[in-house]
Amino acid sequence: MDRYQQHEIPQISVRITQYDQHQVCCGCGRLHTAARPEGARPGIVGYGPNLQAFAAYLMVVHFVPAKRCVEMLEC
Ligand SMILES: [Zn+2]
Repeated sequence: MDRYQQHEIPQISVRITQYDQHQVCCGCGRLHTAARPEGARPGIVGYGPNLQAFAAYLMVVHFVPAKRCVEMLEC
């Protein structure tokens, strides 16, 4: 009699992973600090590859200005 399909996409949420690099005072007298994860940029916050791709998609395919894109991603 009746059919209905509702198409939906998963809600987008940001997953934050914190990497703590420990530092030790070595027997040689120097401080040694663990390396950051591969691909990590300088600074305390960075975008992962999926978020970078999403930002590029917004700017290149949908012509969202960079400033608006940053505002969207900061929420
Ligand atoms: Zn050492």
